[in-house]
Amino acid sequence: MNVEEFRKYGKEVIDYICQYGTNIEERDVAPTLDPGYLKKLLPADAPQSPESFKDVLEDFEQKIMPGVVHWNHPKFFAYFPSGNSFPSVLGDMLSSAIGSIGFSWASCPAAAELETIVMNWYAKALGLPKAFVSDAPGSTGGGALQGSASECVLVSLITARARAISELKGQTSVHDSVFLPSLIAYASREAHSSVEKATKMALVKLRIIDADEHGRMRVDLLRQAIQNDVNAGLTPFFVVATVGTTGGCAFDDITEIGKVCRQVSSIWLHVDGAYAGNSFILPEMRVFSAGLEYADSFNTNPNKLLLTNFDASALWVRDVMNLKSALNVNPLYLRHEHLSGVDYRHYGIPLSRRFRALKLWFVFRTYGIRGLQEYIRNHMALAKKFEMLVRKDERFEVRNDVHLGLVCFRMRTGDEPNHMLLAQINHSGKMHMTPAKFNGRYVIRFCVTYEHATEKDILDAWSQIKCFAEEILRDHQLESSSVPTTPEGSERTSSEPMAPVAGKPPIKKKLTRTKSLRFSFTRSISREQYQSQSEHLMDGCTPILVVDPKTLQENFQKAADDNERSNSNGNSKLKDISDVDTDEASN
Ligand code: PLP
Repeated sequence: MNVEEFRKYGKEVIDYICQYGTNIEERDVAPTLDPGYLKKLLPADAPQSPESFKDVLEDFEQKIMPGVVHWNHPKFFAYFPSGNSFPSVLGDMLSSAIGSIGFSWASCPAAAELETIVMNWYAKALGLPKAFVSDAPGSTGGGALQGSASECVLVSLITARARAISELKGQTSVHDSVFLPSLIAYASREAHSSVEKATKMALVKLRIIDADEHGRMRVDLLRQAIQNDVNAGLTPFFVVATVGTTGGCAFDDITEIGKVCRQVSSIWLHVDGAYAGNSFILPEMRVFSAGLEYADSFNTNPNKLLLTNFDASALWVRDVMNLKSALNVNPLYLRHEHLSGVDYRHYGIPLSRRFRALKLWFVFRTYGIRGLQEYIRNHMALAKKFEMLVRKDERFEVRNDVHLGLVCFRMRTGDEPNHMLLAQINHSGKMHMTPAKFNGRYVIRFCVTYEHATEKDILDAWSQIKCFAEEILRDHQLESSSVPTTPEGSERTSSEPMAPVAGKPPIKKKLTRTKSLRFSFTRSISREQYQSQSEHLMDGCTPILVVDPKTLQENFQKAADDNERSNSNGNSKLKDISDVDTDEASN
């Protein structure tokens, strides 16, 4: 493509983006497709000869767009927001156009220096302790942009692990891995699954601490667990507190957790504020950031609640030397003479880094802190509106404390009608929501995500939810006597029956798609899989399939048997466990 073609098609793409945003409501928020839809539409091999860009764009609209979930649709209430905005997109375009790989100051001085400046702007805008702000007097801390919150958690854990091992090791020359079995991390059962993943990758133990009825980590249990583990000769080294849990947007008490962590010198306290950490830009939300002075590290995702498109996750640490000593490698080909310039390759896992600070800088400058505050306050007000509507309807209940943009609600029935309700909502294509298990109960997460969300979006959604609920209640022909009493924390008692919706015949609407038997409730797993695996759906946001240990063992045995057979046939190829059909494994 030459520069004139780029100019022409670039303008067309911008026009397309504008039109997409303006007319997005004409599209279903999420498609109803089966896996493999695209394979049927595209050739199996890349073209040998160049194709026209016009054809590519046409295929984009006709083949790719039908498979897109529109996260920036006014009726997208799933997960958390995928932060996005025009200034951010433009910043990212420039970053792509420049294409600098800023791993060191020398490889792109502007990228390195802007990242430092923007991370300090951001820290100050959130009112973070001075220890995290690199240009604060006496500070040894600072921040860096990472690819995801999961990466921030992993980087923090690896850094904490290095620090703990170094303390244990002292002057001895034993290998670091010798200390791994003694290391133990802690997180609440409401913490994001990325914590579990990080501990898996780092080969350390994780103790899950129970949460209270509000979804906050039980600090008394944390204290007790740490004490027990110390008595048992283990080394507690990493505690994760969450501000804004995925399942119910609960805020752990960082001050109380911090005080416990201070008792044990090997503990590194990480605070995960992927979504809600951004809300500290509002002074009225800082009641939840109290205690951050105890934290060794803190992360937020501006790509969730700060109008910045993926990927952009911020990680601040109290002492950057800890990061550098855990992650520093220094081959000759990466060295340069400007030793006072920051080399961000020491602050994370990859060497190569995009110029992410650019889009965040565009966002801060074009919205201003005030604009960002208004955006978040609007989400908060709309979530409160939705909460009020749900609470006013006695057939429903709200299960979480609504502090930000997330409302976890359910019908006051057993779980099955609520599964059906979510299935109906998502099957309609007109709204999109996700499930969670919050405080032991199945809930539907309703999160305000759209940048320009209005009260009308909320009222429309609520009226559609009620219609679906009425159908389901009729369908299940709920008798007042069959309505289970709701458990802990609910206002309803057994003497307050669920009102059946009378007058219309039951609607036998089957959502199960006959061909694939896939049940459209998250669009990513089947209903049968969900039912058999529901115990594992702990992260509340992205349903994760965990193969049960028995099946895994059987598959492992099968792989081993196959291996032995092929070995005895003179074929030495090792069969990997991953060769076993995972569908088979998970059924
Ligand atoms: N932490 C929390 C509290 C989250 O809600 C999420 C995702 O929703 C994550 C971590 C993981 O975020 P990422 O997708 O950026 O890894």
